[in-house]
Amino acid sequence: MVSAGELLARQDPKAARRAVAARVDGRIVDLSTPLPAEARPAPVMPGSPEALEILRHSTAHIMAEAVRALFPGVKVAIGPAIENGFYYDFDYERPFTPDDLPAIEQKMSEIIRANHPFQRREEDRLKAREYFARRGEDYKVELIDEIGDDTVSLYQQGEFVDLCRGPHLPSTGRVGAFKLTGVAGAYWRGDERNRMLSRIYGTAFFDKKALKRHLRLIEEAKKRDHRRLGRELDLFSFHEEVGAGLVVWHPRGAMLRYLIEEFERREHLRRGYQMVVGPQLLKRELWEKSGHFDNYRENMYFTEVEGAAYGIKPMNCLAHMLIYKSRVRSYRDLPLRYFELGLVHRHEKSGVLHGLTRVRAFTQDDAHILCRPDQVESEIQGVMDFVQEVMDIFGFDYSLELSTRPEKSIGSDEDWERATGALRAVLQKSGREFDINEGDGAFYGPKIDVKLTDALGRQWQCATIQCDFTLPERFDLTYVTPQGESARPVMLHRVILGSIERFIGVLIEHYAGAFPFWLAPEQVRVLTITDRADAWAREVHQALVAAGLRAELDLRNQKLGAKVREAQVMKVPYMVILGDREVEARRVTARLRSGKNLPAMPVEELVSRLAAENHPGAERERRASPQAPDAKV
Ligand SMILES: [Zn+2]
Ligand SMILES: [Zn+2]
Repeated sequence: MVSAGELLARQDPKAARRAVAARVDGRIVDLSTPLPAEARPAPVMPGSPEALEILRHSTAHIMAEAVRALFPGVKVAIGPAIENGFYYDFDYERPFTPDDLPAIEQKMSEIIRANHPFQRREEDRLKAREYFARRGEDYKVELIDEIGDDTVSLYQQGEFVDLCRGPHLPSTGRVGAFKLTGVAGAYWRGDERNRMLSRIYGTAFFDKKALKRHLRLIEEAKKRDHRRLGRELDLFSFHEEVGAGLVVWHPRGAMLRYLIEEFERREHLRRGYQMVVGPQLLKRELWEKSGHFDNYRENMYFTEVEGAAYGIKPMNCLAHMLIYKSRVRSYRDLPLRYFELGLVHRHEKSGVLHGLTRVRAFTQDDAHILCRPDQVESEIQGVMDFVQEVMDIFGFDYSLELSTRPEKSIGSDEDWERATGALRAVLQKSGREFDINEGDGAFYGPKIDVKLTDALGRQWQCATIQCDFTLPERFDLTYVTPQGESARPVMLHRVILGSIERFIGVLIEHYAGAFPFWLAPEQVRVLTITDRADAWAREVHQALVAAGLRAELDLRNQKLGAKVREAQVMKVPYMVILGDREVEARRVTARLRSGKNLPAMPVEELVSRLAAENHPGAERERRASPQAPDAKV
């Protein structure tokens, strides 16, 4: 046996020196892992996502070592790499605070400078258990108790030993740059019945420049945090007494929802969808029939009505199928496209709830398309065109992923090939690049996932198109063919925005709260410099409202500067400021959110100008013509 690092060095000494780990037979191993002499490992190089993950997870170990050295009696729980960094959960006599971080960072720097190797060893499970028990590491003991194997793998750097599968960096000195970014409370295993632990977040990179760029983005993301802006813009709130993950929409937030939902209804009707509405509660037997009770029960809420068990819907599919089944369908009736802005409830652990982006009750822009096999491709094409147009309206770029058949799956090979082929054909025709997640489809069918990219370059899951072979089978959906025979329709589940709640969370951060004109809950604020302008202000306000614009009136007897600042904080797109001059000329002057002023004009002119801007496509048109007079709004 020869170490993976040694084998790499024989192939390419230069690459081997920079390598972080090695890939062999599809798995990633430490450079110190012994391999057969004939193995041909590939290097995992800095710059790859895998290398970054190893770096960050290794830095979590270093942080745990530092925390253990600084805070005697602390117990360490788990420390994974996450999307933009890592965390480690600790159980200490008090929660950690941001004030603790500098000392921990300093200790970590010492550990990194010492360049200790990360050493792996296999140990007898009971011996390892005894080791951690002796050290009071109850969480490690609990984890070991759940491992079925006789041996467990331990990693040691310096004096610190952790239970871990690995892989890790060859040594602590390979951490180029790191930063601890915050603290939070987190329940052990994300379950609120468990003890609250103290989580420390951090991030790490191979070089300082990348870290700096990342920290700048974090600063910007903080400023745009939709939970903060949601409060400042008076859009929504959460309440302990209501329950976690349940959103309360205030008038402005409800207006935002209404605008998006109206937009969606119009766009769906335009594309031949029919609106349907299903109930919140459906009998448990129906969930058993659909397979949700067996496969999705932990995510559902159940209740009882007059002795009968009901499930609160986590998905909208079932009622849509009952509508299909309510009469005999002919091949001529297909495709049928049922659209519902469906409110669903799903049990998410309290530990993963996050503002609007992870909630327990949300509305999906959900549709189910029932079509003939020969219509699948054109239906998928239609959905992709729909996605393209909607993303364009909101100004998002996006990426595409195709997920194919997993090992455990139902449906015939022929079904899978046909459906996957149709999805792939549409993706190829789009001319866009797409990733393939081999074996990542649902057990009941392949799917396309659409991930939008926001203004900070972050990706968010939005649309999905999913083929389903089970439900038509389970519910015995049929149609009559031209030959008078009975055939199975294909069922597509699809959403465009996904969860309206989450999409609004993303929109708030994408626009930093400055919504485009058509989406702004308040579009125009009319404010007065003096009460001599009150009558004219009322007239102007009335004219705006009569034209269908969302205008508000600020006649308060306060300094103009304060009134303007308030409108700015609320990110109102237009302010109409009226004083003696405007009253006398019976004109209006408008100020844009950007600070730019429009020339004085008759109120009719302002109204027609704003009314022309008051539709979803206006923003796209503006983006398309950078010469537009107020392109910077
Ligand atoms: Zn580890
Ligand atoms: Zn569905």
